[in-house]
Amino acid sequence: MKAYRFPDCDTPILVGRKVAVLGGGNVAMDSARTALRLGAGESWIVYRRSKVELPARHEEVENAEEEGVKFAFLTYPLRIIYDDNYWVTGMECIRCELGAPDASGRRRPVPIKGSEYIMNVDTVVVAIGQGPNPLVPRTTKGLECNKRGNIVADLDTGVTSKAGVYAGGDIVTGAATVILAMGAGRAAAKSIHEYLTAK
Ligand SMILES: Cc1cc2nc3c(=O)[nH]c(=O)nc-3n(C[C@H](O)[C@H](O)[C@H](O)COP(=O)(O)OP(=O)(O)OC[C@H]3O[C@@H](n4cnc5c(N)ncnc54)[C@H](O)[C@@H]3O)c2cc1C
Repeated sequence: MKAYRFPDCDTPILVGRKVAVLGGGNVAMDSARTALRLGAGESWIVYRRSKVELPARHEEVENAEEEGVKFAFLTYPLRIIYDDNYWVTGMECIRCELGAPDASGRRRPVPIKGSEYIMNVDTVVVAIGQGPNPLVPRTTKGLECNKRGNIVADLDTGVTSKAGVYAGGDIVTGAATVILAMGAGRAAAKSIHEYLTAK
């Protein structure tokens, strides 16, 4: 398995020979393509519905296909299998068929009894939604968070409920975009400067 190690790489990672990415959104497509570019032998999107229901943008799917990402549609992961040292050695999946539409209006994936099989993978990337890291809110007294765990901050200034603490980007808005995070960083930097230079 290829490794990108510190200090050659700021974020050390191991690159799998066969990677499974769970999910069907833009982040899943990005993860699967990135795995290939880093040197993975095979990269699979594992998605429980069919191609028609993929939530990713059309061009993201097309680009993933062009780049060599493979798709396991109508496939539901049941469990990740690992060895004594907790290295991933496979993933048990079950095949699905589409049933009646659910609350989201999309046809619900229904597992087909007896169709379980083991997918031979050594890396699994979970790309099914993003949530805030609970560490900072949990350890910082007086920092107000909403029920999703996002820090409550003024969007124009980054000011939070705790004096001298500023926040912006995904931790405040929830999953958004680079440009919004950069704008929030800039606004917060201005507020921090004013705070530090105020008499
Ligand atoms: C796979 C993927 C693809 C994406 N593609 C796009 C795209 O194409 N275009 C786009 O606009 N957006 C994209 N996004 C969204 C975009 O990456 C985010 O909106 C953006 O990075 C948010 O920036 P941020 O600075 O708020 O948070 P982050 O980029 O998440 O940065 C937060 C940083 O804080 C660090 N951190 C966390 N806790 C602590 C701690 N306790 N102490 C110290 N450091 C800590 C983290 O390690 C991280 O480096 C994508 C997101 C993902 C996951």
